[in-house]
Amino acid sequence: MENPTVENLVIIGSGPAGYTAAIYAARANLKPLVFEGFQVGGLPGGQLMTTTEVENFPGFPHGITGPQLMDQMKAQAERWGAELYTEDVTFVDLSQRPFTIRSDDREVKAHSVVIATGATAKRLGLPDEANFWSRGISACAICDGATPLFRGAPLVIIGGGDTAAEEALYLTKYGDRVNMLVRGDKLRASKAMQDRVLNNPKITVHWNTEAVDVVGGSEHMTGVKVRNRQTGEESAIEAKGLFYAIGHTPNTSLFKGQLDLDDVGYIVTKPGEVETSIEGVFAAGDVQDHEFRQAITAAGTGCMSAMLAERWLSFNGLIQEFHQVQIEESNEEKTAHKAEEFSTEVDPEKTKHVGGYALRKLYHDSDRLIMVKYVSPSCGPCHTLKPILNKVVDEFDGKIHFIEIDIEEDPDIAESAGISGTPTIQFFKHKDKVAEVKGVKQKSQYRELIESHL
Ligand SMILES: Cc1cc2nc3c(=O)[nH]c(=O)nc-3n(C[C@H](O)[C@H](O)[C@H](O)COP(=O)(O)OP(=O)(O)OC[C@H]3O[C@@H](n4cnc5c(N)ncnc54)[C@H](O)[C@@H]3O)c2cc1C
Repeated sequence: MENPTVENLVIIGSGPAGYTAAIYAARANLKPLVFEGFQVGGLPGGQLMTTTEVENFPGFPHGITGPQLMDQMKAQAERWGAELYTEDVTFVDLSQRPFTIRSDDREVKAHSVVIATGATAKRLGLPDEANFWSRGISACAICDGATPLFRGAPLVIIGGGDTAAEEALYLTKYGDRVNMLVRGDKLRASKAMQDRVLNNPKITVHWNTEAVDVVGGSEHMTGVKVRNRQTGEESAIEAKGLFYAIGHTPNTSLFKGQLDLDDVGYIVTKPGEVETSIEGVFAAGDVQDHEFRQAITAAGTGCMSAMLAERWLSFNGLIQEFHQVQIEESNEEKTAHKAEEFSTEVDPEKTKHVGGYALRKLYHDSDRLIMVKYVSPSCGPCHTLKPILNKVVDEFDGKIHFIEIDIEEDPDIAESAGISGTPTIQFFKHKDKVAEVKGVKQKSQYRELIESHL
């Protein structure tokens, strides 16, 4: 290849489709560059970051959690030399070769592209939705269901498919009653899921019912206004939490007008194939698949995309081969990683701590800025946040105290801190709360907050 600044292959997306394409392309010495995404189209790692057990991905007879599966795919892609950037692509130009792909931090040129941007959870757009978002409303029961606000409380979930069924069942672990709003008179979920939902005494299914609005006070939502679609009658259901499980929209706005999309927005490929309307551009996973939408099919089409990209590059004489050096962690590094720097003994000289005891002690004794991270075990975004925050905290070693609280282990602390979703970061200085950040943000935002309160 004459121009070394042109990438062989850029992969957009880091769900099962994106990482599988990265593994195959990296093993073919293409050194693919992967934009993992950050916020606009879901989490790095994709939709499985928002689920607990994945029981049907081959090779895991006892199941595996979604975040663990995605961590392993990522590690495999990195091991073979894929270059990963946790950034959203904000612009693509597929009209000229080499193609242009841009994020806020970089612009790259590439001979071929695999689009694996998946799909995003839909919202209803209720009049007061924005008001109560993260103050009761969530699009991820698995991420937010364990927050203290929802314990023993009445909850509402909207949807009638497999996701809604799975999440309704999950919510019964926390809420005292789960009201499931279904627009029609049957569930679309698989028969097995239907049986589990309909036989669960904590779940009430409201048939032919749609949400009209959310009501509440200055702190949190208190109920959902609903309408019976057959009679038009309106009523209210008391609820401290409202969870959306109403499907997904393919993440294809970047490609509108550049690639053939269908009426819903899915990238058009021939059945069973991954070629798009532009040669050298391939689409894999849920962004082109409205039928199967499974991790294994996404991984399968990711594999096909990478192999066809390699063939296409080779046929057109465009390949630049990179012979990778396999990255193996040394034994010393492994040991160092195992002995994580988190301190449970509350040594005030140390920066990182875990648990309620450490928080109580440092809250009273510390002169440093205290940064408290509230997480829950099954929360995918918490998983995403971990490496981001660890790097920032390391930059301020010795200057701050960082404490991680698992809200399942320390529900009282989470409750008195007013935590309504995870991950949440609170900052304290001299016993005053000086800032709070919900969700996953860019490193720079945490860095700026710390610097301004040191
Ligand atoms: C709650 C839940 C449970 C599920 N359970 C199972 C299960 O048990 N078994 C199973 O097989 N399937 C399951 N699925 C379905 C499965 O998660 C999807 O089929 C699969 O994740 C699709 O993979 P994908 O790679 O196509 O896209 P996604 O997983 O949707 O990933 C899309 C990726 O693209 C990135 N992205 C989007 N826009 C941009 C952009 N502009 N720039 C850069 N990156 C971008 C996102 O950040 C993300 O990394 C479940 C789905 C959900 C929601």
